[in-house]
Amino acid sequence: MEIIPNIHLITGPIVNCYLIVEPDGLTLIDTGIASYEKKILETIASLGRSIHDLKYILLTHSDADHVGSLAALKAASGAKVCTSAIEAEAIEAGFPSREPRFNAFGKFVARMMSGLFKFEPCKVDQILTPGMDLPILDRLWVVPSPGHTPGHISFYSAAAKTLFAGDSLRSSRDELVCSNGPVTWDEGEALASMRLQAGMRPRIVCVGHGKVVKNAVGKFPQ
Ligand SMILES: [Zn+2]
Repeated sequence: MEIIPNIHLITGPIVNCYLIVEPDGLTLIDTGIASYEKKILETIASLGRSIHDLKYILLTHSDADHVGSLAALKAASGAKVCTSAIEAEAIEAGFPSREPRFNAFGKFVARMMSGLFKFEPCKVDQILTPGMDLPILDRLWVVPSPGHTPGHISFYSAAAKTLFAGDSLRSSRDELVCSNGPVTWDEGEALASMRLQAGMRPRIVCVGHGKVVKNAVGKFPQ
């Protein structure tokens, strides 16, 4: 589904990915769980483009619901895989970059669902650092957003006034919610990241979980 010109939402039962479509190539932000690659390949084909047009795969963080299809998509496309140094180390090892702080019941549920959340390690080609920009949507800025995980990053296009927030934010009833709870590495850091993002006054916030939030100014938590 095209959210605004050139930015497509690819959604499934668990998580959202975003495809940026430009004449000189495609960029995927996060890859979904293992098996999402089929849906991503179908979306690319439906736009009349080839998987070989995929130039960049940008990753917000090393959780299996965001990097599950990474290895398959990199193998199919040869795209350049980019993320922060901390998340890259975890992605190359095939683990999340922090231990969730689950209670006994949470640990039980996580064990039951572990098959869903395993992922194949993948080599990262480029380390992204805060403040650098990529030649996507004019300039796509790398925004540090630690909190959900220690090396979490998000991406901001000033031209499209769009923030790709990964799991630093989620949405509920058209309001943004800061990452919190046992899967959050540090809630204080998450709040500080959210304030930085709110200060950019994005018009559109593309979250990992929940619906895309439009007219987002004023929908950040106070
Ligand atoms: Zn996550």
